[in-house]
Amino acid sequence: MSGDVVIVGGGPTGLMLACELALAGIRPIVLERLAAPSDEPKANGLVGQVVRLVDHRGLHERLGGRGRPRPNSAYFMFAAMGLDLSLLEDSPVYALPVPQPRLVQVLEERATELGVEIRRGHELTGLTQDGDGVTLDFASEDGARRLRAAYAIGADGGHSPTRKLAGVEFPGYSHDRVIGRHASVSIPADALDPASGALRVPGHGGIMPFLPHRTEHGMFSYAPLPGRPPLVSTSEWDQPEPEEPMSLDELRASVRRVLGVDLPLAPPAGEGPHVLRRLAGGNTRVAERYRDRRVFLAGDAAHVGTGGGSGLNLGLQDAANLAWKLAAEIAGWAPPGLLDTYETERRPAAQRMVMYTQAQGALISPGPDVTALRSLFGELLRSPDTVRLLADLTAGSDIRYDMGVEDPHPLVGGFAPDLDLETASGPVRLAELTRTARPLLLDLTEEGSVATAAPRDGLDVVTARARGAAPAVAALLLRPDCYVAWATASPRPSAADRDALRAAWRRWFDRPISAG
Ligand SMILES: Cc1cc2nc3c(=O)[nH]c(=O)nc-3n(C[C@H](O)[C@H](O)[C@H](O)COP(=O)(O)OP(=O)(O)OC[C@H]3O[C@@H](n4cnc5c(N)ncnc54)[C@H](O)[C@@H]3O)c2cc1C
Repeated sequence: MSGDVVIVGGGPTGLMLACELALAGIRPIVLERLAAPSDEPKANGLVGQVVRLVDHRGLHERLGGRGRPRPNSAYFMFAAMGLDLSLLEDSPVYALPVPQPRLVQVLEERATELGVEIRRGHELTGLTQDGDGVTLDFASEDGARRLRAAYAIGADGGHSPTRKLAGVEFPGYSHDRVIGRHASVSIPADALDPASGALRVPGHGGIMPFLPHRTEHGMFSYAPLPGRPPLVSTSEWDQPEPEEPMSLDELRASVRRVLGVDLPLAPPAGEGPHVLRRLAGGNTRVAERYRDRRVFLAGDAAHVGTGGGSGLNLGLQDAANLAWKLAAEIAGWAPPGLLDTYETERRPAAQRMVMYTQAQGALISPGPDVTALRSLFGELLRSPDTVRLLADLTAGSDIRYDMGVEDPHPLVGGFAPDLDLETASGPVRLAELTRTARPLLLDLTEEGSVATAAPRDGLDVVTARARGAAPAVAALLLRPDCYVAWATASPRPSAADRDALRAAWRRWFDRPISAG
């Protein structure tokens, strides 16, 4: 056996998986088809709970974030309608602008620091499995090669060869109605409102940055990305797809059709890579299974067509969810059924994002009936409850895993709360205590009484006081993926509370996560 785990694909999901497995004591091998990292400007950033996840792994600042992540409390968008986040007491919508090539670079650097071997220029060509492991064939500069591993993870994108070779179906649908056009441009300063940053468009007033603008003829958006030329995009429905390569003139013509006016769009200034892209049609699909015996799927290999910045929110959280469970299986201490919870937890999250994306697709399409529906929806969006629901959906913060706890505390099943703590060694944020990706018991009770009753091996135990306003929790148990497995609000936990903590420990960990 060459190794415990081979990860196919060194994109964001594969590299996050590599980091998470390494933190859990496994040294995976990453096989990546491309000889050098791609500079294709795909994602412009991370949106939602994934921003908190990278913070919990100490990567927020490395990815360009400043200090602790702060949620967007002004506005976001849903189906090209403003989501007024100021109606909420606590916005769950975090956003971190980071171009995908930079994300890949940072994750690759981190994986290498953690001792992961990344083999670039290695393309998976065949995969078979038996009772003991997986045999992977791949092509490289040195010819055909073969690797054997106990497990393989396909993080090889939407066309995932791993998924196809493992025979996992990818149901959903393809559509060819929409053509999206995107280009980096220069825009003269006098076309912008200096106070709001809005793009002045005759007949449409000011079009706010990052807030897509729908007309009866399509969609338009203007994104002044930090440190890069602004990105202008259109989407049009039921147009023939041109045969010639995409050009700035094609975007200008599309803008004219969508907005009914010409905009002063000039070629971008500065060094590239610059975006000049036409995307016709798309796919919306979720793998029927996330696991086939010793082969797992994660990221776009498991789900595609989840827009609105949700691809990476799903993919990186898939990685954090799977890694510690697989490491537990390999180390031999995984409780029965632990690995199956990867699919039962993460597949519904993808299905929910598919629903989110499809609903927005319907609400932005052209037609007077859709315009009427949008008017109605606009009225619903004045309600804080509706904004809360959509903000949580956008962020993925409404995901609650089944932790098997009876009458659970409201935090149970969700991502770790954002807490400021005072420990014997000084002030610290809860997020800073989870960098090791080990299970963590946080004890805020008056006498530190939970920590003394807790199992110690393989568990980080922290007794602390909360700083600032008293939190609605007195103790909690976090899984390595930072989800709350157990919590109590009681400052003097009862015997029943302690039994519930022990049950949670057995359910998820059973035995020490490592000797440490
Ligand atoms: C234009 C565009 C804009 C987007 N904007 C956003 C955004 O703002 N926010 C967001 O969250 N998401 C966005 N997305 C989605 C996001 O880019 C994807 O969700 C993300 O790339 C998924 O990462 P991944 O690692 O799962 O797959 P990928 O990024 O596709 O990586 C898969 C890797 O596997 C490798 N590979 C493939 N086949 C093989 C093989 N046979 N052998 C070895 N290696 C192989 C590939 O070379 C690649 O490096 C956008 C996507 C596009 C196209």
